[in-house]
Amino acid sequence: MAVRTGEQFLEGLRDGREIWLEGERVEDVTTHPKLSRMAHTLASIYDLQVSPEHHEVMTFKSPSTGEPVARSFKIPETQDDLLERRKALEVVANWSFGMLGRTPDYVNIQLTAMRQMAHVYGRKEKRFADNLIRYHEYAREKDLCLTHAFGHPQVNRAVPISDLPDPYVALGAVDTTSEGIIVRGAKLLATLAPFSDEIFAPIYRPLRPDAEEDKKYCIGFALPVNTPGLKFICRQSYDRGDSLYDYPLSGQYDEMDAMAVFDDVLIPWDRVFAFEDVELANYALQQVPMWRQYMQQVAVKNIAKLEFILGITHGIAEGIGITGFGHVQEKIAEIIDILETVRAYMRSAEADAAPCEGEGIWPAQEPWIAMRNWYPDAYVRVIWILEQLAAGGLMLTPSEEDINGPMAEDIGKYYQGATANAADRVKLFRLAWDLVGTQFGSRQTLYERFFNGDVVRLRQRRFETYDYSRAKESLRSFMDRPTGK
Ligand SMILES: Cc1cc2nc3c(=O)[nH]c(=O)nc-3n(C[C@H](O)[C@H](O)[C@H](O)COP(=O)(O)OP(=O)(O)OC[C@H]3O[C@@H](n4cnc5c(N)ncnc54)[C@H](O)[C@@H]3O)c2cc1C
Repeated sequence: MAVRTGEQFLEGLRDGREIWLEGERVEDVTTHPKLSRMAHTLASIYDLQVSPEHHEVMTFKSPSTGEPVARSFKIPETQDDLLERRKALEVVANWSFGMLGRTPDYVNIQLTAMRQMAHVYGRKEKRFADNLIRYHEYAREKDLCLTHAFGHPQVNRAVPISDLPDPYVALGAVDTTSEGIIVRGAKLLATLAPFSDEIFAPIYRPLRPDAEEDKKYCIGFALPVNTPGLKFICRQSYDRGDSLYDYPLSGQYDEMDAMAVFDDVLIPWDRVFAFEDVELANYALQQVPMWRQYMQQVAVKNIAKLEFILGITHGIAEGIGITGFGHVQEKIAEIIDILETVRAYMRSAEADAAPCEGEGIWPAQEPWIAMRNWYPDAYVRVIWILEQLAAGGLMLTPSEEDINGPMAEDIGKYYQGATANAADRVKLFRLAWDLVGTQFGSRQTLYERFFNGDVVRLRQRRFETYDYSRAKESLRSFMDRPTGK
């Protein structure tokens, strides 16, 4: 099967999946009033793949069938491959203005990266490496959309997961049969779950090597979202069905987040990538740097998003006549510098790409680590700048009904800007508010702070694992120089 159209993608979501939203089971995510607009946004991304304009950039020939398949499944062998993948990522990120973290290319690249290192999973039992390779090919040929969930419920972080009130709060194996593993418990945080075909759950948290009771939590796997016993509990939807003038982002880009609950679910053996081998799982955590590949998608998304935010901020500054103030110029320049710094990190990681253990070529790790640890704070700063410049205007945002209602004349007079009429000025400020202040906007900031892990612990790991030899040598050579007058 070649790449899917948007309609084929939507059809795939009508499969009896168990999605819970605001106290009710969702019959059909493609028609539900609080989910359907996002489903159709994603469908429009699938349509890009088959559009004459983008088809070539977004696809490559399947090594199995010769049919066009999504480029995010391609194992990059050369720098050109990386640059071609970047172009495909740019089409999607620009289409969605960087508002979607979890376009399908994100997890596709994770899966591809894991497949590049399949031998690690097959170190002791070859079947796990074979499963991974087969699954990568399956997802590629079916053009699947995947959600992924690494973590376990935030019940009590002070104790090991085996010591939680119920040993199956975190997802664990209850039993094994000739068909597969039966699992119970929950996984989080499955962004995009209602709109995905499958859940991909590699092991991504260290387990205690010497604790027999941790073995049951050592399961890496993938499963269709509609597998019996698997349910997803969504957070409240931010798409309340309002007009896109009033909520231009909430109404189109709410990618949704969910807890995946497994109620004695069978994972067939051919969908298992690791099981009960804590030593191997912890080794794989160190040796399979999926992030070195998927950070390219993150960078491309960040650039698209920052260009969009820069446009909004600059538009607001012009709109209310504040671009002549020195501090406003300085703050807008700060956004530009953050944007260009992301671009520099990306280009540096691509330029220094090299083969490593496993298949293909891998972007350099240092620029990605630096970007990953810095960007969450930088994004918060960008949002702070936008708020500082838009100020009270973020509250002077009557609705579309007001604009067209009995107060239209007053609104026309008092809400006009230096360079825009009232309707356009309010539209711009409503867009800004949806980015920074609505539930959708707050979630965007939380996403940038946490989706890639907790920066506090990432920085601690940086401190512990950085190669200090050059720094030490630098200090030593200074200290060795003669002193005195
Ligand atoms: C919008 C959004 C979307 C996301 N999407 C996904 C997704 O699609 N798939 C996915 O798998 N994950 C996703 N995540 C989850 C993300 O990876 C986690 O939020 C992140 O790794 C932090 O884990 P946590 O939220 O469980 O926080 P916790 O680990 O519970 O941490 C809470 C606080 O306690 C501190 N803390 C906890 N334990 C320690 C410790 N041992 N040492 C020091 N400090 C500690 C942390 O620093 C933090 O301040 C998403 C998160 C967000 C916010």
